[in-house]
Amino acid sequence: MMVWAAIQFGSPAADRDGAEALLAAQQLGLTGGRDVGCLAVTPVRDGAVGSAQSEFRGLLAACGIRRGALLALDGRRGLDADVIVDCLEPQMTGRDAAAWVFPGSAEWRTAAARLAVRLGWPVVGEVIEFAAPDQLAAMGESGAGPACGVVRPAFGGSLLAIEALAMPCLVVIRPRAFAGGPPEGTAIDPEQVDLQPVSGVSGQATGAASRVTVVSAEERQSDLPALGDAEVIVSGGRGLGGPEGFELLTRLARALGGCVGASRAAVDAGWFAYESQVGQSGRTVSPRLYLAVGISGAAQHLAGMRGSRVVVAINRNPEAPIFGACNYGLEGDWREIVTALLDEVGSAGPGGRN
Ligand SMILES: Cc1cc2nc3c(=O)[nH]c(=O)nc-3n(C[C@H](O)[C@H](O)[C@H](O)COP(=O)(O)OP(=O)(O)OC[C@H]3O[C@@H](n4cnc5c(N)ncnc54)[C@H](O)[C@@H]3O)c2cc1C
Repeated sequence: MMVWAAIQFGSPAADRDGAEALLAAQQLGLTGGRDVGCLAVTPVRDGAVGSAQSEFRGLLAACGIRRGALLALDGRRGLDADVIVDCLEPQMTGRDAAAWVFPGSAEWRTAAARLAVRLGWPVVGEVIEFAAPDQLAAMGESGAGPACGVVRPAFGGSLLAIEALAMPCLVVIRPRAFAGGPPEGTAIDPEQVDLQPVSGVSGQATGAASRVTVVSAEERQSDLPALGDAEVIVSGGRGLGGPEGFELLTRLARALGGCVGASRAAVDAGWFAYESQVGQSGRTVSPRLYLAVGISGAAQHLAGMRGSRVVVAINRNPEAPIFGACNYGLEGDWREIVTALLDEVGSAGPGGRN
């Protein structure tokens, strides 16, 4: 039995999500000594199926994955959960899969739940790691047939739970939990990739099945990077005291080449947009640098930024829990500290000075 990743491919955001799912599938494959395959769905225009096939072959070769299948949907602009479910269901049963690994984006999470019901397989979300068979055995989970061991946050991120799922199963990963590319030396020659033919799916058919009509699409207007892509995030909480505080944080974020995040308390108060909320009921982020400004460090907030490489906390309360979850703690009034940081790094742009 193999591990399969199911991904969308062909747009920058989808490619990043897909790369994470591929990496996760490879880790799961290694954990259980299983081969890995990848089934991708891609919208194409004007019959450009051939070039999509060759790009997909290149992607698999770069990751060292020898088996794949591509569903090219001619004439579609994007994918929604309906389309993903319709495309994948007939493809998922005949592939001798131990587990299917899905990206953690909203469409794929929704599709995973529906596919699990249709196929009668277990599904699990928010997976951040896999448990080795001996870990499962130590938990007494090896008796009832082959099991897939996953690790995911529980109780608002204050604990990590190891769970065992009967195979075949569906595994949805947590966004940004599997970062980095394939290990060096895993690439193979594109000719070594076996691209299996896919039948029974047409862009037309899945278009008819979709219950979603895209009326219009608006590009996000901001000169700062999106939260999920930012290497630096400057996040503000209730300690800022009001929406004006975010103006100073935006200047600091711009100076550092990053973007602005917010705690739920700040979002609930209407000081900053929900799309920037970090945490259990917001976004999960894993930047290189996360500055938590006037944020106490509740478990639900930590659940969303725990994967950050370096965390700097600014808080006037030495007892604030965030000081137990940071690499560097700056105790004092946030405005004084952020102003001093701005003086130091400059507010004209990354690397620039005032
Ligand atoms: C189901 C559920 C889901 C949730 N999801 C999320 C989520 O996704 N994200 C999230 O953030 N929260 C979430 N929460 C809420 C979470 O429990 C906390 O209430 C919230 O994170 C608190 O936000 P805060 O740290 O900004 O505010 P507070 O806890 O009020 O902390 C403010 C901090 O600012 C400091 N401060 C005050 N003045 C200054 C100053 N002048 N200078 C420096 N520091 C100062 C204070 O010492 C304090 O530590 C969730 C809760 C539940 C129950």
